Amino acid sequence: MSATEETIDRDAVLERYRIERDKRLRPDGSDQYVEVSGVFARYVDDPYVARVEREPVADEVTVAVIGGGFAGLVTGARLKQAGVTGVRIIEKGGDVGGTWYWNRYPGAQCDTHSFVYMPLLEETGHMPSEKYAHGPEILEHSRRIAEQFGLYDDALFQTEVRSVTWEPETSRWVIRTDRDDEIRARYVTIGTGPLHRPKLPGIPGIESFEGHTFHTSRWDYDYTGGDPSGAPMDRLADKRVAVIGTGATAVQCVPHLARAARELYVCQRTPSSIDERNNEPTDPAWFEREVLSPGWQQRWLDNFCTLQTGGFADEDLVRDGWTDIAGRIRDKVVKNLEDGKEFSMDLIDRAFDESDLEKMTEIRARVSALVDDPRTAEALKPWYRQLCKRPCFHDEYLQAFNEPGTRLLDTDGQGVERITARGVVVAGVEHEVDCIVYASGFEVGTDHVRRAGFEVTGRNGTTLTDWWSEGMRSLHGIHVHGFPNLFVIGSAQGGNLISNYPHNLSEAARAVAAVVAHATAEQIDEVEVTAEAEKAWIDLLLGAGPRRVGGDPTCTPGYYNNEGQPAGLKGKLNSAGYPQGPVAFFALLDEWRNSGDFAGLELRP
Ligand code: NDP
Repeated sequence: MSATEETIDRDAVLERYRIERDKRLRPDGSDQYVEVSGVFARYVDDPYVARVEREPVADEVTVAVIGGGFAGLVTGARLKQAGVTGVRIIEKGGDVGGTWYWNRYPGAQCDTHSFVYMPLLEETGHMPSEKYAHGPEILEHSRRIAEQFGLYDDALFQTEVRSVTWEPETSRWVIRTDRDDEIRARYVTIGTGPLHRPKLPGIPGIESFEGHTFHTSRWDYDYTGGDPSGAPMDRLADKRVAVIGTGATAVQCVPHLARAARELYVCQRTPSSIDERNNEPTDPAWFEREVLSPGWQQRWLDNFCTLQTGGFADEDLVRDGWTDIAGRIRDKVVKNLEDGKEFSMDLIDRAFDESDLEKMTEIRARVSALVDDPRTAEALKPWYRQLCKRPCFHDEYLQAFNEPGTRLLDTDGQGVERITARGVVVAGVEHEVDCIVYASGFEVGTDHVRRAGFEVTGRNGTTLTDWWSEGMRSLHGIHVHGFPNLFVIGSAQGGNLISNYPHNLSEAARAVAAVVAHATAEQIDEVEVTAEAEKAWIDLLLGAGPRRVGGDPTCTPGYYNNEGQPAGLKGKLNSAGYPQGPVAFFALLDEWRNSGDFAGLELRP
């Protein structure tokens, strides 16, 4: 399948994009969603590990690492490598793994090549078994990291942090938890994840359903049968199931539900773009011959990051949907330059537009080729630019609609009309079901405390909520003025590499480990970014032009663009990245930490 400029009616396609977007815009934006609290609180109960009672802990550690997902694991590992002792993970789940602890839905797998997605492969000696590893292997790898770097030794699981408060007299953070712990820590790292708190769709009548329900991030295998490694969900054989949502999660679990359930209704508001997956097992001989050599994972990381963000490299190691689109844009720019055109931003913009139109035309053609029923196929076609929403890659999702028991309930952009005691209502028709699975995603853009579950109170009694009331403020996305010895591990205001989120975490972790090791060696008590350095960084980020996609208001609504509502300064700050892109940011951070003077930080003995 290949689309060319001649075969695409650009104006007609862009007009269709506009119509489809306008149809979906709603005045309540992100407020349309229901918070998982009160009567909905059970949706976040842990179905995987039974609660273990324990006595409260009152002690002191060097570093309290809040969150035991990839952010906490890579930070803990880098700290240990740098010789820091007294590192304690505090995690609300029953084990490490974060996203991969919670998201055990059938079919869960990484969307970015395992060799770059799974952190610390070289350090742990693990060879991913597939190009895109499945959830159980990634969870196991999380445990491997914790084991190897001794991060289990002092960890507190099933423990929710309630408050983190700076104690100026002792230069310590005091961490209080739901287990009545009172832990003092010289340093705190926060790695609570950007998509962490499940949300429910604000569908009228949602509380009235009398059947079984759960959110995809708390999969109820007791109800469905089967297991996370893909064993058939035999208990669904006589069940009618509705899944609400068609984002990246639904795309992965729908094929499994389609095989297992007697009847499956897939309730769609906006179709995802589904490109080829082409997963394959890793050939150990090839891995040993072609990949394994000192520094291999960093080479893969750098190669992917460079190519995916429009840079040049001799070879595309990953070769997938992420690098494909970037490669097309690059090839067009090069061709134009060879044809004698002058280099300009306009040239790049046009190459981007053309490549995107081609790609999305192919993706829509793929739907027609794979889905038997023409009406269903039409409804499954995405009408927006590829990076307006999280691109999806799957080789079974579209075919699932050919299963006799599976039916697409397309809502023409309006969402499910109503939920009744017995089922879901779409286009005025009630469809009775035994179970509703909410594949409705996670909170994005709500306040830090609401998502993380705890407040941070810094020097002078200022809270993080207040300091960030107009949007996040930091140096490098890591250091926050007024909050000494505290480090945020994420991607915002840093590299912001969306296609490979863990890469952001690994680089941030290295920088934090360098700061902590340096402060420890030099007997420095407090490390804090100055107000000037923080302001200079924010000015730099705000000086950058509007983001090309994602934050683009002309995109169909979703969490990438604040549900289509103007994001204002707050939204811009919360999703800003280094203007020169992730490759330049990672280089800058590397130089910053290696230089040893940690420009912008005040180091107080
Ligand atoms: P998303 O937020 O992407 O999807 C939520 C879905 O629910 C959307 O399809 C949304 O429709 C739909 N929805 C919301 N309200 C209603 C309603 N009232 N009626 C019907 N449908 C509704 O959540 P996901 O869990 O799928 O994914 C979240 C993110 O997690 C991804 O974007 C990705 O970053 C990450 N992820 C990564 C994976 C990987 O790398 N392997 C796998 C899974 C997730 P609409 O689009 O119209 O808003």
